[in-house]
Order: sequence, then C-alpha cells, then structure tokens
Amino acid sequence: MAEMEMRAREDVEIGRDITPAIPPISFSLHDAFLHSHCSACFSPLSGRPFPPRRHCHLSSSSSVFYCSPLCSAADSPLHFSSAESNLLASSPPSPSSESSADLRAALRLLRTNSAAASGDRMFGLLTNREKLLAEGDEISDRVRSGAAAMAAARGKGNGAAEEEESAICLVITNGVEVVDEKGRGIGIAVYDSAFSWINHSCSPNACYRFLLPSSELSPSPDLRIVPSGRTVENAAAAGGVGYGPRIIIRSIRRIEKGEEITVAYTDLLQPKAARSSELWLKYRFICCCKRCSSSSSSSSSSSYVDHALEEIATSQGFDIVEATGRRLTDYVDEVITNFLSDDGDPETCCQKLERLLISGLSGLRLHPLHHLAINAYTTLSSAYRIHASTSNLTYDHHCPEAFSKTRTSAAYTLLLAAAANHLLTFEPSLVACVANYWASAGECLLTLSSSSSPPPSRVAQQYRCSKCSFVDALKAVSYADFENVKLKLVDCIGGYTRRSWGYLSKGCDYLERFEDPMDLSWVQKWPGSSNRDAKCGLVVAESMDDVWQLGAHCLAYGGFLAAVCYGEQSPWSNQVQRLL
Ligand SMILES: [Zn+2]
Ligand SMILES: [Zn+2]
Ligand SMILES: [Zn+2]
Repeated sequence: MAEMEMRAREDVEIGRDITPAIPPISFSLHDAFLHSHCSACFSPLSGRPFPPRRHCHLSSSSSVFYCSPLCSAADSPLHFSSAESNLLASSPPSPSSESSADLRAALRLLRTNSAAASGDRMFGLLTNREKLLAEGDEISDRVRSGAAAMAAARGKGNGAAEEEESAICLVITNGVEVVDEKGRGIGIAVYDSAFSWINHSCSPNACYRFLLPSSELSPSPDLRIVPSGRTVENAAAAGGVGYGPRIIIRSIRRIEKGEEITVAYTDLLQPKAARSSELWLKYRFICCCKRCSSSSSSSSSSSYVDHALEEIATSQGFDIVEATGRRLTDYVDEVITNFLSDDGDPETCCQKLERLLISGLSGLRLHPLHHLAINAYTTLSSAYRIHASTSNLTYDHHCPEAFSKTRTSAAYTLLLAAAANHLLTFEPSLVACVANYWASAGECLLTLSSSSSPPPSRVAQQYRCSKCSFVDALKAVSYADFENVKLKLVDCIGGYTRRSWGYLSKGCDYLERFEDPMDLSWVQKWPGSSNRDAKCGLVVAESMDDVWQLGAHCLAYGGFLAAVCYGEQSPWSNQVQRLL
C-alpha cells in the first residue's frame, strides 16, 4: 500500500482537524438499523418514517426508510437504480443472516459512477481483489457469493461478476464502520482518496470521527494533507453523492510538515499477534509500523505496551508461548460468552474471572495489564453493575448488598481507566480509548456517590478544584499545553484515588491487591514484584466527598482527552460538559 499515502502539508498541533468534513462516495446502514435510522442521513427515525419514492408512487413494502421527504427525494433514485431494492427484496434483512451493508454499498458505488476499473484500482482506490480472492477463506467466500447476489439483483445472468467482485473488494478494503453517538456501528461508508489513502499504523498520529446531521455544526477547516509524491496524478475522484455521513480527520499528536498521516484500522489495545491477524485477514498486509517492528526484547516504550498486553507468568517463569496464551483466551472467552448469553449469571461470571485473575489457570497467571485481564475488568464492572440491579433489591442505600456491588463495579471502571492510562504514557496513540475509560469511570463514581447515604456534602459537590481547575481544561481550545494539563489532572486524580481506594476496593479480594491503581509502576517488574500483601489501610468513613470529587475529575479528564480526539463540539464532549 506504500505508493498511496497522505502527508501533512504544514506543521499541525495536537488536537486539530486536518480535513474538512469529507462526504462519502458510497454508504449503507447495517441491516439491523434499516428500520430505526434514515438511510440517507443516518439520523435516528422519529415519528412516521418516509419510504422510498418511485415515479411519484410510494413503495409499499420497503426495507429502507427516510427521516424526511427531502432525504427520501435525495436517495430514492439511487436506491432503485443501484438495484439495492432488488437485493433487499430477494433476501430481506433478518437477525440470523449476515448484514448486506457491504453488498449494498458496493451496488451503490457501481451506480454512482460507471466503474472505471484499471488493474487493482477503481475510482482511484485500491480494490485488493486479487489478494482477497487468492486464499480460499471466509473473505473470499463472501466476495464470491456477494458478487453473485449483486449480479442477480442487477438482472445479470449467471455470467462473470468481475465488476461486482471488484466493488465488494473495494468496500472491504476502504469501507469504514460509521459509529453513532452511542458508539454503535450503524453502517459502513466509503470515502475518496483524502481519507482512503491514509495508511494504517498501530501507533497512529491521527484519528477520525463522523459528522451526522444531529451532531456538530462548526466551520469546516481546510484540507491540510496532500497525497505524497507522484501519486497525485492517479487521484481520480469518484465524486460523492452529496449527502450521507461525513468524516473528519484529526491529529492526536503534533505532526510535522511532510510527515505521513496514519490512522488505526484495528483496536490498538490488542496485542501484536491479534492486530496482525486481523489486518491480514481483512486487508492482506503485514504491518511494519514502528510499534510492530520493535522487537519485544528491546526496551523501547511501544514494545513495553505489547509485552504487557500478552505477558503470562508460568510456574517455570516467564513465557509468552502461544499455546498457553490460547488456553487462557478460550477460558476467558467462554466465561464472557456465557455471561452475555440470555441466561448468563453475573455472579458466576464474577467468581470465575476473579479466581482466574488471582490464581491463574493451571499454573498460568495473567499480567495485570494483559489484554485478557483488561477485558476481564470491563466485564467485571458490568457484571457487578447488573448483579446489583438484578438482586431484586433497590439500587440505593436501602440495600447495602446492592450498594456494595455498585461500589465494586465503579472500582473496576477506575482500575480499567488507570491501567489504560499507565499504557498511555508509553503509547500516546491510545488516547481515544483511554478517554472512553475515564469518562465511564467518572460516570460510575458520580452515580455511586450520589446514591450513597449520606450523600456527599454540598460543599464537595462543586465542579471546582483549586489545584487543577479541571473545568477550564475542558474549555481549552489550544492543546499546546496538552501535557501540562494532563499532568495536573492525573495528579489530582491520584490524590483522590489514594483517599478513596481503600473504601472502593473493600471486600473485593482481587481489587484489594492493588495498593494504588494510579501507581502501576510495580507491574513493570511483574511477577517478581507484586503488592500482593498490600491491603490499603485507609478506609475513610466519610470518603464520599472524595469519591464525588474523584468522579468529577475522571469525567473531566475523559472529556479533555475526548476533545483532543474528537473536538470540543463533538456529541461526546458535549455530553461530558452537560454532566459537569
Ligand atoms: Zn434523513
Ligand atoms: Zn503495526
Ligand atoms: Zn483537581
């Protein structure tokens, strides 16, 4: 993919939009959202939705809907002319079948422009067709069967479906999951070279967000990136359809003029092996980014993160052998799947995961920052929360048992945020996911403290802190001082955590092993060093004021990091500001 790349045309500070809002060249909702969202603008449907319109007639038995007559008028012609309507009529969306969003986006792409495919390119974008079809696996099966279904919908006989194959491959290679305000993937969209030529890195310097009609209205910045070198002449624009979810790219680090812009195509909190296999399966490339090519024996900071994410201790000492890792993965997957199933029991889930975290599995123990441990913290926080709300008792202080489960749940969200924050100091590109963890820890802690008896004092319930003035941090428009603001916030969070952790972790065997989750420096020498015997002596009876302040700080810190990644006007930042 090296010949297609984008570079900064000027120096860019951290937290700046580096493209205008780019409209898609093709897009479609996932099957599951066809009835709840507008197929033209992706906004949630409210009131009576509008079906597609054909030659002045409303289509009666439609699978797609629009939020307004305007959206219907804009998109209906493409809905019919692309044969999307035929595809949906011949295989109506059902919960059991695979989403046909990729096929429908591919159909729309073929209709928007007569497909000028040359070699491995279509509309100037890489299709990767040969590579995707080379191996007889899940993806190549999908391409072949999908192309046949598309050809049938377009009224072609059983002939060759090469054009359709190229279009699906283009969608698989360049399509991005469109995420709504709640973080749900609601559909897919394909953008022109300004976005699609940006390469992947596991330590990227940029991220992206979507602009849906209900979200921000801010002036669009200039395009601050350009295709590198001789590729300019190949920039054949496919031309957008003029509506649909737009995308904006933003710097998450300081970027120098001429530096390549990169984003993540995969979850960055996964260990190297998992990232590699996902990138290979879907895009057929081997990542050679700085993070992937630093050997695990080197002492660079990014290799520390990958080392921690997959480190296991066996009775024989260190080992990161694949087979042993797989047994642990299977075990954790099974526990989580059982919990998520219809009759999943949160109590069993908590017991099993905590036993695993404490004693390991047949002699294998997980590093406290192992990616499975991190998954376990996420699951434990939601399992404890569900347990509290389903124990047939009320959520508040009238039931001490339910309250203590809520407390443990909040403590796990804090541990999770602290663990991710520790990794952030070594890998700055984790900022987007760390922002999320802090904001949810903040929300949980605020809920906990306001449901306590007695509630926190009025004096404490102020969104003010003389030490870090965290509310101001949220309003900071320039992030030139990013590191400084971050340090101050983390320092305050550290102070409040030390005062509240004994109370938050009380009664949970695993959590009590952490003396101070904000100081995880000891895990670098794990398993040799652990604070196994550290029991936090400090159980402050009137710590609710501290818990409340801790929550407010966590939320502010999450909001600050989110503003860096998604802008001050994003729905995300707005939500945090509303809460504060
Ligand atoms: Zn609409
Ligand atoms: Zn990589
Ligand atoms: Zn403070």
